[in-house]
Amino acid sequence: LVLAGGVGWWVMGAMESTPPILSTATSVVYVGSQHTQQLTVADTGRGVQTIEVWIEAGGERYEVDSKAYPGSVFSGAEAKTPRQLTLTIVPKDLKLPEGSATLIAEATDFAWGRNLGRVDVPLIVDSRSPRVNVTTGLTYIRRGGSELVVYELDEPVARHGVQVGEAFFRGFAHPARPSQYLTFYALPHTTPPDALPAVVAVDKAGNQTTVPLSFSVIEARPKSDEIRLSESFMRTKVGELLGGDAPPDPLEGYLKLNRDMRVENDATIAKICATSSEEPLWSGAFIQMPNSKVGAGFAEARTYTYNGVEVDRQTHLGFDFASTSQAVIPAANDGVVVYADDLGIYGRAVIIDHGLSLFSLYGHSSSIAVAKGQAVAKGEALGRSGVTGLAGGDHLHYAMMLGGVFIDPVEWFDAKWIREHLADKLSPEAPPVMDMPGDVPGAPAVAPGA
Ligand SMILES: [Zn+2]
Repeated sequence: LVLAGGVGWWVMGAMESTPPILSTATSVVYVGSQHTQQLTVADTGRGVQTIEVWIEAGGERYEVDSKAYPGSVFSGAEAKTPRQLTLTIVPKDLKLPEGSATLIAEATDFAWGRNLGRVDVPLIVDSRSPRVNVTTGLTYIRRGGSELVVYELDEPVARHGVQVGEAFFRGFAHPARPSQYLTFYALPHTTPPDALPAVVAVDKAGNQTTVPLSFSVIEARPKSDEIRLSESFMRTKVGELLGGDAPPDPLEGYLKLNRDMRVENDATIAKICATSSEEPLWSGAFIQMPNSKVGAGFAEARTYTYNGVEVDRQTHLGFDFASTSQAVIPAANDGVVVYADDLGIYGRAVIIDHGLSLFSLYGHSSSIAVAKGQAVAKGEALGRSGVTGLAGGDHLHYAMMLGGVFIDPVEWFDAKWIREHLADKLSPEAPPVMDMPGDVPGAPAVAPGA
């Protein structure tokens, strides 16, 4: 009886009908030169006996992996714990054809009837890099200045744009040409000479194409200035910007602002500028503050002295426009306000998105007359100039950014530069010859911002 009961118990156990459960990511997988995928097989009954993995493509079967685990139909699997597999798919090694395929995994257990579990994963095998055809020709870029490149891609990609050293400028679908793409990029003032711009396209399978751009660089004449710090100025600003966190030493407090807060604020600006309208919102030249004097230009090297001793160095990444005090600040071009609030050393500030990663910033305002999300037209009042943030006197700090990178605004004030560098590239029809006039290294026909 005991024996019969034991046999009965074994039969019941061995007759279990719960199939193994296979767990893996089942959304469409783009397989580039190599793909790795995790597979877990669990069986709540007698345990996992075999796992087989293959790919079906064009009616053919390509073996990926197979496993047989120790155990017997009498006692079940030696280990009842789930089995983990790391599947590595290298299309070249498997001689897989390009295109759609299915990854299939099947597992059996140690039950009498060998229950079968299965999972199917749709694959797209794509081991070819996207083709990038740059349609714009040789150009010249001023150090700190901007450029626009237009290109075609032969497949939809996951990411495209222009890489310049550490900086990546994201690309957009060309707003006026259905089959083309474009990227506004800059040669950041800090770019090392060997970091050359290149169009980068990465498809969904991770295949990357890099096409270096031909251009010549116009080096900027270095500008410098000395800022003499007074104790009363430092105390006022440290109190305004650090409040209760202000250290007792005014210089220590000032350096906190000029170094740490500057880095923090620029990181905030980069974050704000990471998303932009997919359409250009601006048109024509950007306008400067009327009836104003330029106090400082772009990439001016500033030395800060206190009691005749150098205490800090920073680079000024915008233009300073000084007018009458509390002068009206006009929007430099059409766009949408994406920031209108306190911004540390920039004081009360407004940031406008002009589309396709182009932004303008207005700092040190005494008051702000616009709100985040508001569309503004060229010339519309954003607020009034002031001395908020790290400003010694009433002025507008005007900066422009491409993505999170500060660029020289001078070109954008220049209708001729916009016409000659951008107009053709943004137009619905590509002109037959795209090379710029005067594209001879070091001999530009156009002198932007002269
Ligand atoms: Zn400034």
